[in-house]
Amino acid sequence: MQAFEYRTPKTLKEVQQDLKQFGSDAKLIAGGTALVIMMRQRLVRPACLISLRSVRGLDRIAEKNGGIAIGGATTHRAVESSALVKRRLPLLAETYHHVATVRVRNMATVGGGLAHADPNQDPPPTLIALGATVKASSADGSRTIPVEDYYETVLKPDEIITELYVPRLAANSGAAFLKFLPRTADDYATVSAAAVVTLDKSKKTFSDVRIALGSVGTTAIRARDAEAVLRGQPIKAEALAEAGEKAKQAVDPISDFRGSAAYKKEMAGVFVRRALAKALEGLVRLPKAAAKKDRR
Ligand SMILES: Cc1cc2nc3c(=O)[nH]c(=O)nc-3n(C[C@H](O)[C@H](O)[C@H](O)COP(=O)(O)OP(=O)(O)OC[C@H]3O[C@@H](n4cnc5c(N)ncnc54)[C@H](O)[C@@H]3O)c2cc1C
Repeated sequence: MQAFEYRTPKTLKEVQQDLKQFGSDAKLIAGGTALVIMMRQRLVRPACLISLRSVRGLDRIAEKNGGIAIGGATTHRAVESSALVKRRLPLLAETYHHVATVRVRNMATVGGGLAHADPNQDPPPTLIALGATVKASSADGSRTIPVEDYYETVLKPDEIITELYVPRLAANSGAAFLKFLPRTADDYATVSAAAVVTLDKSKKTFSDVRIALGSVGTTAIRARDAEAVLRGQPIKAEALAEAGEKAKQAVDPISDFRGSAAYKKEMAGVFVRRALAKALEGLVRLPKAAAKKDRR
């Protein structure tokens, strides 16, 4: 590792000033779980590290406009343990719980994870399905980016993620996240899928559906064609299977030690169908055929 300057700002304003001063020569460091590895491998060689550890007010979890606002430096562990998150958006707590091990979750932060933008991460599919946004800010102002539009280089060098905002679920909605991990329980996913379904008042028809997948492309992917198959349609096992088939067409995985591209594509369809069925649990009694297919 090459020598670097280490700054420990106490306020967001100081962070923004440091980022403005050093530009692309600086790197923010939050949990350090990704950055330190990249520095050791000499993939990044910052002249200055700006620590977020002492910055006041960046690790709050609070109710906002009916949804939940989570500070950029909040740890994964804090999200999974938050009574507010568990009560209002249990899927969010559950998803962050799926990340790696408790040691990693005690360090890794919400903003660090999103900024790192590894397509194999767990939170992005759930955040996309829930319609979450991130707030990026710099000395020149702030902007809101839907997680759906987030990719590795979307942040400017002088920007910091200050907040993740997750809106509340609409009435008659169910949500699910599934992580397919055939190797070990603390691995990255071979395929992951998240689904949020909203039913009409009769609870017989899908009024809205959002589906997203992880580990099957260069970013997390929203499966819009799969959603379109279900929107406005009655709840039927065949429709869930058809949405799974459409999701397969949306993904573009690579072959690696977690599985071949063909296998991951196949699993993408299976896990979208299962995530939809799980999201429907508690809202409706699933058609028998859907439950049966799910036991495969
Ligand atoms: C062994 C291991 C296993 C893992 N397994 C999984 C897994 O299964 N699923 C999963 O989802 N994740 C997993 N992770 C975690 C994940 O991939 C990242 O390491 C983690 O989310 C990064 O968070 P951090 O706070 O440590 O970021 P850091 O390492 O501190 O920073 C990462 C990047 O984000 C930038 N950054 C940090 N904070 C901000 C901010 N607020 N605004 C803008 N930029 C910022 C940094 O400059 C750096 O470029 C694993 C990590 C490890 C080490």
